[in-house]
Amino acid sequence: MELSTADVKVLVVGGGPAGSLAAALLARAGIDVLLLEKDVFPRYHIGEALASSCRSILELAGAAQKVDDFGFMSKHGGLFRWGTEKDWCADWTEMFGPEVRSWSVDRSEFDHVLLKNAAEQGARVVENAAVKRVVFEDGRPVAAEWVRGDAPEQLRTTRFDFIVDASGRAGVLTAQHFKNRTRHEVFRNVAIWSYWDGEELLPGTPQGGSNIISSPDGWYWVIPLRNGRRSVGFVMHETAFRERRRDYDSLEDFLSALVDESDTVRSLVQGDTRLAKARVEQDYSYVSGDFSGPGYFVAGDAACFLDPLLSSGVHLASYSALLAAASIVAVVDGDTEESEASAFYESLYRNAYTRMLAMVSRMYDQYQGQAGYFWLAQRLTGTPAERAVQPNSAFVELVAGISDLFDAQHGKESDQVATVPGPAAPANEDTLGLVEIMPRDLYDDNSQLRLVTSPRLGLRREQPATGGGRLRPPRPAEAAEQADLTTAG
Ligand SMILES: Cc1cc2nc3c(=O)[nH]c(=O)nc-3n(C[C@H](O)[C@H](O)[C@H](O)COP(=O)(O)OP(=O)(O)OC[C@H]3O[C@@H](n4cnc5c(N)ncnc54)[C@H](O)[C@@H]3O)c2cc1C
Repeated sequence: MELSTADVKVLVVGGGPAGSLAAALLARAGIDVLLLEKDVFPRYHIGEALASSCRSILELAGAAQKVDDFGFMSKHGGLFRWGTEKDWCADWTEMFGPEVRSWSVDRSEFDHVLLKNAAEQGARVVENAAVKRVVFEDGRPVAAEWVRGDAPEQLRTTRFDFIVDASGRAGVLTAQHFKNRTRHEVFRNVAIWSYWDGEELLPGTPQGGSNIISSPDGWYWVIPLRNGRRSVGFVMHETAFRERRRDYDSLEDFLSALVDESDTVRSLVQGDTRLAKARVEQDYSYVSGDFSGPGYFVAGDAACFLDPLLSSGVHLASYSALLAAASIVAVVDGDTEESEASAFYESLYRNAYTRMLAMVSRMYDQYQGQAGYFWLAQRLTGTPAERAVQPNSAFVELVAGISDLFDAQHGKESDQVATVPGPAAPANEDTLGLVEIMPRDLYDDNSQLRLVTSPRLGLRREQPATGGGRLRPPRPAEAAEQADLTTAG
């Protein structure tokens, strides 16, 4: 890089999981980073059930132990009562062992822990600071104009070399500057939810896991939170929402009626008290044009969001934060051309998003049945059917976010072996928490770049090696349950 005249090397906009983790990872790599967050934390946010991949990325960012210490509910999977089939589980402990876990969290507290962690790792964090405009010169973002909430008339300007837009749905670069977001017509859904006391979940639910329950008009979530509370919500098409909403005086009455309509959800919350007002979100399914370009990376919801169904939001936010931080470090270190790092980011993040999109779309078609979902997951992850440990192996890996961590290639024949269990990574090889990364993982076929975490976060150019890094091998008892899915779907 040329000698910079910027005030800061990297500006991160937004202090949600994407922004806080990107800032923490960059600061840990010794990069000068400033994070501007519009709100003052703790602030409310939806998005409480976290994929297990989040844990690996939080470990790299120095935040996992802090989240553990906070005492959030430990999460080991989830249970689906979906369509007309009997209940089925994504049980991470059964499949991978007890170390594969994440949390079910109150996001106000979780996001606050992550934001404080970013500062503790060396990022400069300013809350109550809203970015108003990003200034471009010759097609490259070079500065941000921002105001503090307590002095809104005073416009401040910060120059930077790189910007990470992690501003969530606000989309400072995507929605506001480029105006390049496209709404997903298939997911014109509305979510309505509140919080109930009580701890009951469906029998067989993995510890701390969510219940996902379908109904003819949509689906419910029940997520256990700490201190004997549960988040209970319903997702339905916006047309049905608008039509039915008219029949009720308040959102609370409407939500109570929706809960009453499901034998399952009604019985789970029977006798328990609703603890908060009902909340609603809509218009949340979209994808942006470019996820990266000269001098910028768009992370988390600022780039795209699909649907709450598979709890993929914080996974994609953390994953893209990791990819963005590694890409920037590689360019700053002179290991990679900026255009290549940008292409690497675009390819891997879009692939992760598209794969989830395909899975969620299939699940909305409840008539497909679980064999159809599991078969699609195998296709999307490239897991040969005969290698699947259990019928739902690929599905669980995909939904847990694990596939994205070790299998970021897509669309090529050679990728089909990328998720075959291979030898464990040698000691001191790159390690993402429990996921041992081998050279072919997190690898972009076009640029031949792969993400590395040691001795320093970044990108390295090399040919993929044979074999793939995986979680530890499955236990024999589980392997025995292997089923043939080759004819499924
Ligand atoms: C109904 C519903 C249920 C969901 N459930 C789940 C779930 O169970 N599990 C899951 O993983 N995900 C879930 N999600 C998705 C999840 O909420 C998001 O994907 C996740 O929060 C994205 O993180 P982020 O850091 O990209 O954005 P955010 O968490 O939204 O953070 C963006 C931050 O940027 C700040 N900001 C915005 N504009 C500016 C500005 N101009 N200047 C400075 N700062 C700014 C905001 O204040 C905010 O703090 C759900 C989503 C919905 C709609």
